[in-house]
This record gives sequence, structure tokens and C-alpha cells, in this order.
Amino acid sequence: MFLDELNDAQKAPVLHKDGPLMVIAGAGSGKTRVLTYRIAHLMNQGVDAFNILSLTFTNKAAREMKKRIADIVGSGEAKNLWMGTFHSVFARLLRYDGDKLGYPSNFTIYDTQDSQRLIASIIKEMGLDKDVYKYKQIQQRISSYKNSLITVKAYFQNPELMEADAMAKRPRLGEIYRHYVDRCFKAGAMDFDDLLLRTNELLNRFPEVLHKYQERFRYILVDEYQDTNHSQYLIVRALADRFQNICVVGDDAQSIYSFRGANITNILNFQRDYDDVAVYRLEQNYRSTKNIVGAANSVIARNKNQLEKVVWTSNEEGPRIKLHRSPTDAEEGRFVASSIFEEKMRHQMPNGHFAVLYRTNSQSRAIEDALRKRDIPYRIYGGLSFYQRKEIKDVLAYLRLIVNPGDEEALKRVVNFPTRGIGQTTMDKLTVAANASGRTIFEHIENLESEPLGLNRGTRGKLSDFATMIRSFQVLNQSADAFTLAEHVAKKSGLLLEFKKDGTPEGIARMENIEELLNGIKDFVEGQKEVADAKGDLSEFLEDVALATDMDKDTGDEDRVALMTIHLAKGLEFPYVYIVGMEEDLFPSAMSMNTRSELEEERRLFYVALTRAEKQAYLTYTQNRYRWGKLIDAEPSRFIEEIEESYIENLTPVDNYRYRPLIDSDIFGDVDKSRLRQKKPVAGTPPSRTGPKPEQLRRLRKLKPDIASPKGSDTVIADLQEGTRVDHSRFGAGTVLKVEGAGNDKKAEIRFERGDVKKLLLRFAKLRVL
Ligand code: ATP
Ligand code: MG
Repeated sequence: MFLDELNDAQKAPVLHKDGPLMVIAGAGSGKTRVLTYRIAHLMNQGVDAFNILSLTFTNKAAREMKKRIADIVGSGEAKNLWMGTFHSVFARLLRYDGDKLGYPSNFTIYDTQDSQRLIASIIKEMGLDKDVYKYKQIQQRISSYKNSLITVKAYFQNPELMEADAMAKRPRLGEIYRHYVDRCFKAGAMDFDDLLLRTNELLNRFPEVLHKYQERFRYILVDEYQDTNHSQYLIVRALADRFQNICVVGDDAQSIYSFRGANITNILNFQRDYDDVAVYRLEQNYRSTKNIVGAANSVIARNKNQLEKVVWTSNEEGPRIKLHRSPTDAEEGRFVASSIFEEKMRHQMPNGHFAVLYRTNSQSRAIEDALRKRDIPYRIYGGLSFYQRKEIKDVLAYLRLIVNPGDEEALKRVVNFPTRGIGQTTMDKLTVAANASGRTIFEHIENLESEPLGLNRGTRGKLSDFATMIRSFQVLNQSADAFTLAEHVAKKSGLLLEFKKDGTPEGIARMENIEELLNGIKDFVEGQKEVADAKGDLSEFLEDVALATDMDKDTGDEDRVALMTIHLAKGLEFPYVYIVGMEEDLFPSAMSMNTRSELEEERRLFYVALTRAEKQAYLTYTQNRYRWGKLIDAEPSRFIEEIEESYIENLTPVDNYRYRPLIDSDIFGDVDKSRLRQKKPVAGTPPSRTGPKPEQLRRLRKLKPDIASPKGSDTVIADLQEGTRVDHSRFGAGTVLKVEGAGNDKKAEIRFERGDVKKLLLRFAKLRVL
């Protein structure tokens, strides 16, 4: 009997008869299981699947839930459940009844980019200054109005809103909003926010529709209730109003979406909104070891703003949480990859039992590189693989064009990005000419004076400027290394400026990704220095990237390490979890440390991250992180110290400061700390990749003499001979084939396990004998 798979505390909400109920409980205590089993139980009691609506945080969660229910009640019946995210469920509802609002049933859903393009064109048509009316900011503003149910009409009835936009020097925002809504409507399109806004409108304006769905959805269940926004909250309230068979489960300690308008008070007000609410609490965690539960409890206890909760587990104690420090982010990636490799071997675990969680998407690059080198398959969730992201492809397209101006796809991608006034008609003419002549488009561009192809002088000038720019990059490419060149290109092409000036979080994220790409190239160039016959030039790098994307191709093999942001990991669980980048300004994020509530949200995020782990959690941080191709001193995250000490095993003890290597502010005071916040490199001695600065060294020597070698104990250059097994910081494990030369020129030829043979100068190579 499936009910036997529940403890008594869980059984109570599952068996709860009609009427509103709420389950408030900590991570891993079985909230999602309660929801799932409650649905199965309702169906076993004769409730028709058609009468049950269940809202989950991801569609994947819905699929898994459905599968479990199908196991219990049979798959035929389970098919009839309405289950999914708010957006997917209400898009479906609007397909049936959106016609009442004038939408066709096959309405289009605009994604964010579609919305932004439309807004940009409206701004242009209205003749507004696009530097004042930035389309991405306007799109976000409109989105937040929609999520607060401020329609165009409501906007124009609210003098305060209009005044606020006028103060922000955007008095015509309301007009843009109006045009945008009209144009979407005319196009038969809804954006993401419309899916909730229009559902609300439909239920409000058409009582018969509301009645129909109230009758239909007699039982409503919501998972992750703590992260519903106002618009979602109102839909649930309207639908549940008649029968009040509403079951919500959530954990206020895991509310992590307030930046998207999620409102924690929804959970706090539940008892006020409905009569006779039954509140259930679960305390036993089934997911994690004692060490993980204890550590997570000790962290979240620091939040002032929370409901009282107890979480305990009868699971085994398990190993302590492992803390690891790396010199740089590249080495952090390498540590994670080799640790996953070791754990896999030792415990015979599939890749799918491992997850790497990070605060921001741009951190995935170093992890991806390291996993690839180790041939460990991975999958990135909720984002494109790093090299497939638009802004990265843009930079790479410029680089490809430098190496081969005949590369037509690269040319088309960037000839008018950033905008240079080279329109589609022009490109069409050039393409036609190129197809007819057998010459490349680039060759035609360079030959326009003798063969103008009917293009006017202005257009010819723009094209010629573009060609000249590419040629100038080619000249630099003769002398500069790939990093210097790529940095130059990112600036001179206008790409960086383009993303910088839009100033939205999305633009910043794109800039950060370009920064990450540059870091990767820098790393690559450094690595190539050790390779005897390599130049570290652009074509080598592009080849490396091309191979990387080749290897990334989906082989159909589903057993992969999961890489994702912590936000996406909500509700999931993995036996092994690596939380990387545990550094101040990164996690907690520099943008979220200004108020207590922001910091508490970051702490909840950390609580979510930790509580994903079943058997083992790893926390990693770096001493130095590459930003803009320069090393920045990093400070360990305050969250590390917030974990009660007894739950932690420090893999890299340094000194008698707990988990904390010396940082500049220890020596220079807070001034330097504030510079760190601005993410500028610290002035003074150029940072070395391998260890602390001289001032730090002196202090460290006093504390513990044996760790003071700036070279580190990793560098082994003697004793190499044919057959010696070695490990290289970038290329992984390998076997020495041959040693030649002497002194500074001593080289070793090594076959690496990932497939290639490299000749390394031992003077530079970071090799370790295995
Ligand atoms: P989160 O807050 O992270 O969303 P949750 O409260 O929803 O967590 P679940 O995911 O439902 O917790 O459960 C955590 C794990 O514990 C799951 O693997 C689940 O199958 C298991 N579990 C829950 N209750 C029991 C039980 N009574 N017996 C055995 N395993 C259980
Ligand atoms: Mg859950």
C-alpha cells in the first residue's frame, strides 16, 4: 500500500479531507512527496483526474510527479491530470478561452527577445532617443507592471506611476506600453507575462468562465508556494474560491525568487485568505545525511526573518562537508572534475549522481573546460552551453572572420552587429553577387569601388569601414597573442560597449560572459606557452573551441553530470553536490549585499544549494579569480564561516585563520576591500598565479613555514622518464613518451588520456608525478 511509504506526519496532509491546507516544512522533508501522494490518494478515493489541478515549479517536476502517480493509480487515469508550471497550464487554458479576450486559439507566445525587438522598433517609430528609452529596460518595466496587474488602463489612471516614469526621464513610457500591448494583440501574440495577466483578466471579466474552471478544478495543489508572484497568487485564489480545496506546500526558508516578484507573504497570508486552514508541519528529512542537515540548519538559523522550523534526520551521519580552496577558477574546475572522477571510481557512481551548482551562469565555463578535459559528460541546464551563447558566438564570429574572411556565416552574423547601418537589402545584393561571381562576400566588399553592385556611396563607405576594421585586426593578429587580440576585438568592434550601455542584468550577464571567454583565452594562451611547438595564437584557440563544441554534441547518452545555477536546482536532489565559487561578491552576490533582506535571500539560496545533497556536499572557493584577464584577490564567502565548524572537513588547511587565507584587507585595511567590491585589480605587486603576494608570504611564513613556496609543491621537473605517469593542470593525466633537451630547454613529449600528444617545456609545465 503506497500510504505505507509515508510517515505519520506526512500521512496527515495526504489523508486530509476537503478544505484548505498548508504544509510548511524544511528541505527534503517530503513536501513534494506529500503533494504527489495526496493526488494519488484523491484519485483512489474516486476523485476524477479531470478535477485536479497541480502547479509545479518546473515541467520536469510535473513529469516526474505524473510518473509516480501513474505507478500508483495507472497511467491511463494519470494522463488526465492538469499538471505543470503556471505558464504552461494557463497557456493551455487560454488556448480554450482566450477567444473571449479576442485572441486566436493559436496565439503566438513571444519570448523575451521577441518582446525586446518589438519594443525597440516601437521606440524607433516613435522617434524617441534610444539612449534614454533603452528597450531592454523598458521591457523589464512593462513586465513588472504586468506581473503586478497594472494594465495600460491602470497605468494611465495612476498619477504616481506616471510621475515616477517622468522623473526617470521617460515620460512616454506609458505610450510605449500601450503601443506594445496593441501590437502584440494585433499580431495575435502573448508574452510570458500575458499568460498570467490575461488569465487573471479572463477570470475577472467573465464570471461564467471563472465558474467553469472553479467547477472543473475542484482540487488545486501548489508546490513551492513560497515562490509564487502576485499574479499567480490571484489566479490560485480565484480558482480555489468556490470549493476551497486548496493545498499548498512550501518552505519560507527556500524563497529565492523575490527579484522576479515572488512574494513570501503569500505563504504568511494563507491562513488569513481562507477559512479554517489546517497547517501541517514535517520535520524529518529523508534526503540528506546528518552532517548535511546539521550544516544547513546552522546556516539558516542566522536568518532573522523566518518561521520556526525543526529539521532532523535519522539518516546516517555521512562524511563531513568538504571544503576546498584553489588558487584560481581554472584550478577550481580542475579540482571539481578530478574529485568527481575519484568519487565515481571509489563508489562506482554514474555521472548523473553528481551536480555542480553555481551562483551565476558565467561560472560554468571553467567547470565545463575541466570536465571536458577529463572526458566526463555533463549537461548544462537552463542555459546554452557556454560557447553557444549569443554574445560568445558574436565574439567568436569576429575571430573566425579574422582567420578566414571567407567565412560567410561569421560575416553575416557580425557585419551589422553592433549596428553599422548595413541593412538586409545590402546584404542580399552582396549575396546575389557572390553567388554569381564565385567570389566571397568579403572580396566583393573590398572591391566595391570598381564594382559597386548598385550600392550607394554611403553604404559602400560603411562596408569598406567594416572591411578595414577586420583587416586591422588581421595585422594585429600577426604579432599579438590570442588573448590580446580577442580583448582588442571585443572593444574595438563595439561589442562590449553594446552590452555595457544597455545596463540591464541581462546586458551585464552578457558582458560577464565575454569576460569569461577572455579569461578562457588567457588561460589557453598561458597553457600553450608550455607546449613547445605552440604559439598560443588565434587559429589554435579557434580549433580548440571547435573541438570542444564537437565533443559537446549530445551522444544520446543520458548519464551526465548536471551543471546549473542554484536557482534552477530548487526541488531537485543529487547524491553528490559541488557548490563552487564560495566567495564574497560572488556568493553572496555583490549586487545583493546592500540590505538585510537581500542578504537573507542569498542565505536562503545557500540553504537551497546545500540541501540538494544526499550523501556528500563539497564547497569550493578560489584565492584568485580571473576577471577581465586579470587576477583579482577573492575572499572566502561569509557563508562558509556560518556553517558550524564541526560539520566541515577542510581539505586545504592554510593557517590558523579559520578557512581563510590572508587577503589584502588584512594587511592594508578596508580600503582594499572596497576595491575588491568594485572588482578592480588590487594595485601594487602584480598578482602571481601560483600563490600569495610577498606581504602575505611574510605573514604566512611566520605562521607556517612549510606552505610558503610560491611555486607550490605541484611543480615537478626532475625524475621524468619514458613511462612516467603525470598529471597536468590543464590537460589532465598522461604518460611521458620521451624526454629531451637540458636545462631551460628540457622538454617532455606526453600522451594525454584525453587523446592528444603534446611537447611541454618543463620549465613552465605544471606537472605532477602520479
Ligand atoms: P524540497 O524542500 O527540497 O523541495 P521536499 O520537502 O519536497 O524537498 P521531497 O523531495 O518530497 O522533499 O523528499 C525528499 C526525499 O526524501 C525524496 O527522495 C523522497 O522520495 C524521500 N522521502 C520523503 N519522504 C519519505 C519517506 N516517508 N520514506 C522514504 N523516503 C522519503
Ligand atoms: Mg519539493
